[in-house]
Amino acid sequence: MTDATDRDFWQPVSGFDLPRYAGLPTFMRLPFVPPGHARFAEVDVGLVGAPWDGGTTNRPGPRHGPRQLRDLSTMIRAQNGVTRVRPFEAVRCADLGDVSPNPADLMDSLARMEDFFSKVRAADIVPLTAGGDHLCTLPILRALGRERPLGMIHFDSHTDLFHSYFGGTMYTHGTPFRRAVEEGLLDPKRVCQIGIRGSAYDWEDRDFAAAVGIRIIPIEEFHARSVEDVMAEARAIVGDGETYVSYDIDFVDPAFAPGTGTPEVGGPTSWQALSVARLLDGVKVVGADLVEVSPPFDPSGGTAFLGASILLELLCVIACSLTSSAAGGSE
Ligand code: MN
Ligand code: MN
Repeated sequence: MTDATDRDFWQPVSGFDLPRYAGLPTFMRLPFVPPGHARFAEVDVGLVGAPWDGGTTNRPGPRHGPRQLRDLSTMIRAQNGVTRVRPFEAVRCADLGDVSPNPADLMDSLARMEDFFSKVRAADIVPLTAGGDHLCTLPILRALGRERPLGMIHFDSHTDLFHSYFGGTMYTHGTPFRRAVEEGLLDPKRVCQIGIRGSAYDWEDRDFAAAVGIRIIPIEEFHARSVEDVMAEARAIVGDGETYVSYDIDFVDPAFAPGTGTPEVGGPTSWQALSVARLLDGVKVVGADLVEVSPPFDPSGGTAFLGASILLELLCVIACSLTSSAAGGSE
């Protein structure tokens, strides 16, 4: 947690001091504190780039996501516009840099990412990751969920629960949560997937979810209920145990977030997209991500700006969770 003596080091650059388009674009204009930096161990919440899309089965591009998200995140200011939370004063936040993938080797990329996030976890830093495609979440869960299964709240058009693709390929951005359940990284009875929609080849992913007890809130149910009601159920499912939050930008309607590889129409608005993240308040978040922003399909930067804004909402929830547990709150 921060104290007045070194608070300045951890504050983002203000647009009142240096124009937003100037300077080096770290996430939210935070200090750059990669592993090996003298102050790495002091970080509470680390923003990480995962520039890898080797699990993509359709239109590639999310490997370029972290750089564009950093650029558009220079629009983020110090205070949440709704909750008035000031996360950069509540906890020490920093840009930890990018995990270095191997774009020519999927399994090596998974190993490199797990290794990076193991260092983050060993330093007791809560990672907030910008993808990358959704397969990036699997090595994060391997690093964070190794000792005990985590709960998860997952926003997406897709379940990403398929067994395999192309006759036996086990690792794609459509399979990470199937692997995570099989590997004991997630407790399926504490997993809630929200926003699922679109045409399908079959129901194999849904059958698996039903068999292991994963709760799916499909889009037709999401729209029929209030956002508050849906999120109250999601919070009840994960309870007060350790929980990961995974946010695929294709959860949002492509009218608001066209810059992604596998869009599905009929989704939430940008306001609903922010609201669901804000309503994670009270969840014990041990890590979170925002994945599948694809700059080649996002020439205006609008999808990346929404992604950066969702990252801020997630960061505020994490900051509140850390300060309340440090004060002897819910934990
Ligand atoms: Mn996904
Ligand atoms: Mn998706």
